[in-house]
Formats: sequence, structure tokens, C-alpha cells
Amino acid sequence: MRTRRIHASLLATVLAASVLTVATAPADAAGKHKPKARWDVTQYVSGTDRLEVHGRAPGKRRTIQVQVKAKNRWVTIGHKRSQRNGTFRVTAGLDWYGSHKVRVRAAGRGPRFVKGTTAVISPAYAPVGKPADYDLLGTSKSSSWRFNPCQTVRYKVNADDTGQAGLDAARAAMAQLSAASGIEVKYTGATHMIPAANDKKRLPKRTQLVIAWGTHAEVPAFAARGADGLGGPRRGFYARSGRGPVVNMTTEAGVTLLTESYGTSYTPGFESTGVPGIGHLLLHEIGHAFGLDHSAGTDEMMFGGAWTPEADGVFRSRLAAGDLTGLTKVGLGQGCLRKVRGSFRTTQPQAPAPLG
Ligand SMILES: [Zn+2]
Repeated sequence: MRTRRIHASLLATVLAASVLTVATAPADAAGKHKPKARWDVTQYVSGTDRLEVHGRAPGKRRTIQVQVKAKNRWVTIGHKRSQRNGTFRVTAGLDWYGSHKVRVRAAGRGPRFVKGTTAVISPAYAPVGKPADYDLLGTSKSSSWRFNPCQTVRYKVNADDTGQAGLDAARAAMAQLSAASGIEVKYTGATHMIPAANDKKRLPKRTQLVIAWGTHAEVPAFAARGADGLGGPRRGFYARSGRGPVVNMTTEAGVTLLTESYGTSYTPGFESTGVPGIGHLLLHEIGHAFGLDHSAGTDEMMFGGAWTPEADGVFRSRLAAGDLTGLTKVGLGQGCLRKVRGSFRTTQPQAPAPLG
């Protein structure tokens, strides 16, 4: 009896299941073509993952864009074509620290398709220092300098005096500044130029920043200024974001580090005891190039005096809380810059002398 009852209930289950199947089949067919997006990856530690979204967009073989919201504009950070049936899967590298609005959309002709969410990207460490400990170049907003945060900063490195280790360190520092500011950066190759050897010389074509090492003999300014490094904007024009204040948009910037201090006053890495790593000097001088001035906060990479190690005696070359705030003030969150046209400003702004 018991067995029979089980069979009966099994049969009932099978019947119910088949009834269910019949009942839901039309809904499934309709759902197949319903536009949808599912965000697979939206929270991660910067540099360890990518945004990922998949779904189905109306139409076929359309360009599906993943975008992040800058202040006044959506910036495309990844794209891929959808399949003939509309399905898509797009990933986008987003290393920008913070909580950001992101969206996926189908571009071009066809029905509107936009699905948004929030992405949360965190640094790989807990920053030391105080968020308020930063300062911007210039005495007012209208004399501040910054790159156009919506344009990739293309940079070259002169590591003739340090070899591969110097190049690797420069790239690691640039990755930190990029993650903090939201500004894309791209290493475009080697150069033999030394920016501080000649402040007036133009950078190579399509280059916004050169990072170089130079000796006392090549760069007299090191001795004259008593500095181990020199950095800052070199050329630019007047620009603004929407109706915001007029600022100086940096088109060329230079960073030069003292060759004689490499491996002596600074170890070649980003973590050391005794003396700071070269990462400290790189982050500091590139910080000037991005528009930061000296900070009064002793924990900051932009501190104007001699660095001290963290509480455990280790120097860690990582942007601190004030550095991070400063970089948000010159970063993608401030919106894209556009050149100011017409008679309002016709002259080129005068770049400040590079800071030590
Ligand atoms: Zn400085």
C-alpha cells in the first residue's frame, strides 16, 4: 500500500510538473526576447577585477556600451557588439576608487536600452592620513592646473639611468594616480628626454607627461633648488567644465627625479625600511603634475617636508587620505574640460615653475 501511495504521489508530481511546463511555456517564449541586463561584477578591490554585465538588448548586432558617470557626462569604458539574437556580455576595466554610477546601453539606431547600477571600487589598503590634508596648485580655482579628466594621459618614461626597475616603478605610481583620480593613463614607450633639463622644450607628439631620471650634471635645478625631484605642468590652456570656473587645462607636464638619489636616498621599490622607496618620490612628483600642491599632513605623499615611516617603521609608497581627496578634486568626478573659446581668453596661461 505504501509503495502504491508513493507511486501515486510521484505520478501526481509528474502530472503537476507537465501541467506547469505547458502553462509556463508561452511565458518563457515571451521572456526570451524581453530586454534585460544582469550585472555580474560591480564590487571589487581596484586592479583585481572588472565590471561585468550580460543580458539581451533589443535589435541585433548593436554596439553595447558600458559607461561610468563623470560629473556632466557618461564616459564609455567598455563596449562589444551584441549577437544576432540580441544577447551580450561586456566587461569594462574600472579601477577608479569610490562609489560610481554605471550603466549599460545599446548605441545607435533601434529601441532605447539603458540599465544602470552602482559600482563600488575600493583601494587594496586602508589609507593613512587625513582626508582634509591636501592642497591644489594655484591660489584659486582659476589658477589651478589639471589634466582633462575625460582624456587619457599618454606618458613616456626615460629610465636610461635606472633600467627596467625604474620604468616598472613609474608605471606602478601612475596606476595609483589613475585609480585615485579616475583619469585613464597609457604608457606609450621610452624617451630620452629629461623635462627639468629644459623647461621650455616641447614633449614628444601626442604625449601629455614625461617621467625621467636626470643627473646633477644634466639638471642644475636639483642643486639650485635642493630637491631630489621636480614635477608640475608645463603647458596648457584655459578651460572649464560646463559652467564651472575657468581652470588651466594641462596639455604637457614633466617629472624629473635625481639619478644620484636612486638606490641611496630612496630604495628602488614601494616598501622599505630606513629610507623611503622610490614610490614616495614618484607619487609626490607625479602628484604635482596632476595639479596637487604640498600638503601639511605628515602622512601624505604630498607632504612638503621629509617623510617618516608608518607606526611599524615601514615606509609604504601609497597615496594617503589627503592625497586621495586632492586627486578627486582634479579627477573625473569634476567633469570633462573644454577649451574656453573666443575673446574671453586668448593668451596661454603661464605654467608655474616645477615644484620640488
Ligand atoms: Zn613637492
